[in-house]
Amino acid sequence: MLSRCVAGPLGETEGRQGGGTTAGRLSLNPFLATAYYRQLILDQVRLTPRHEFHGKSFICLSLTRYCSVGCRFCFFKSPRAYRKVVPDDAFGDEGVDRLVQFIRDADVGYLLISGGGDPLDERRSALRLISEAMADSIVIVTSGNWARSLPSARRYLKAMHSSFLARRSPTHLTIRLSVDEFHGEALGLAPAHNLLRLFREQYRNEPNFCFKIHTLCNDPCIAKFLEEAGLRRAGNVQIAGVGDECRTSVKISPRQEHYVDDTGFHLSINYAKLFHSDENVDLRDRNSVERNLAIFQKDLEESENGNSSRVNNLDGSLGLDFWITYDGRVTTWGNQLPDNRFNVYHDRHRDVVRRSFNDPASLAFIEWGGAYRDAILGEVNPRAVLLAKAVNIRDFVGDILFEDARDRLYFSLRALQDFRRSGHVSDGAMAKWPEELQKLVQLGKKELRRLYRTSRNDIVRQVLAGAATKEDLQRLRRRIDLGHFSVSKESCFRLEMALKNLR
Ligand code: SF4
Repeated sequence: MLSRCVAGPLGETEGRQGGGTTAGRLSLNPFLATAYYRQLILDQVRLTPRHEFHGKSFICLSLTRYCSVGCRFCFFKSPRAYRKVVPDDAFGDEGVDRLVQFIRDADVGYLLISGGGDPLDERRSALRLISEAMADSIVIVTSGNWARSLPSARRYLKAMHSSFLARRSPTHLTIRLSVDEFHGEALGLAPAHNLLRLFREQYRNEPNFCFKIHTLCNDPCIAKFLEEAGLRRAGNVQIAGVGDECRTSVKISPRQEHYVDDTGFHLSINYAKLFHSDENVDLRDRNSVERNLAIFQKDLEESENGNSSRVNNLDGSLGLDFWITYDGRVTTWGNQLPDNRFNVYHDRHRDVVRRSFNDPASLAFIEWGGAYRDAILGEVNPRAVLLAKAVNIRDFVGDILFEDARDRLYFSLRALQDFRRSGHVSDGAMAKWPEELQKLVQLGKKELRRLYRTSRNDIVRQVLAGAATKEDLQRLRRRIDLGHFSVSKESCFRLEMALKNLR
């Protein structure tokens, strides 16, 4: 059956070089046919989480990939728009229809409309979400590029306020302005002053239409703004407190401060850690790697409770934490699997949840968190674990961890073994799986590791087996030089030959 169906990364002849007694029993080293086995798992395995995720959800949403500001430091490296915006770049009307539906179905406590890209560059979509998104609390993160002049700031705020008043269900709306030295370099402090003035003059009596500032720990810019604005501290500094825009969930901010001016107007300031996002991080640079790891780990433990895919709600319930990108892709946060993707244009919320739970690689992270995932993947590919953190972009961790198809399969099989052990999978349920899958799950950890290693199906072979362009191969070579992958000399040679043939 396997020889007919395998759509694995290598041809059948190579696939039969698995070697060893177990590989013989299995006819094929499974790590030479990762796509086939992963699909088998996705098609045949049905899992139910131990925890109940019936509580309110959290959604972080990126409306557009573009940003009109172009800061020197941008966490997401959001480019300025250089072509006509298409649905892959930003949510237009149809996309917002889908989002509104997804958000309604997800029972959202907290909707964070954030970057990459400035949401208010997609003004129409942002306004529609303000009036139509069913969420207890909505926060719009912005650079304030639209608030550089007072008349423009007034116009935008009026439009947002009108959309807010047009809602059918109540919410708490926060306009959260980023004020730090990087935004200050590009925009100055005018947006902060203009918004402070307008909220103070026009919206101060609106408890659910609020202004807030978000800055970075130890940032010099915020002190200048506070002084210029005549704001003084009111109350104590809260260290690692629950953000006050979260009405339903425990979202920890490293630090919060509250300020008041002479007229009695209150302003909250949140402090966040500075991440050093860099998809081309050099893993040979120990200092940068250690710095990035420390920030990543601190944030995961302090702000995400060790698990970025789930939400701890104030009422004690658990919910799911989603991340939606401008092209519609949706996943529980940090939990992307490149061969099991969802998109709000095609998938309803209930299908995303069902398929996320049924994928052992996804459910294991949702149930057991980052420490479990790191430990299991570290058995075969500690470099991927290191890289995913060193890149310092929390949102795409799953994509980086599971770039190598062998890691997706290895983690799925090890998770299934642990689901067996913990009783998630009964003997009866397992008996219904295809025999070859049962055999794989029954293998010892040592044997699985041996099969992984001896497959020699490294990232170069996987990429060369697909429809890679010259740019893909050049990028792969660059990343190998940066230490992102461990590959054999033979694979390097193959890569060079392939590049030569494309010249
Ligand atoms: S304003 Fe924000 S999203 Fe835009 S370039 Fe600057 S950091 Fe990136």
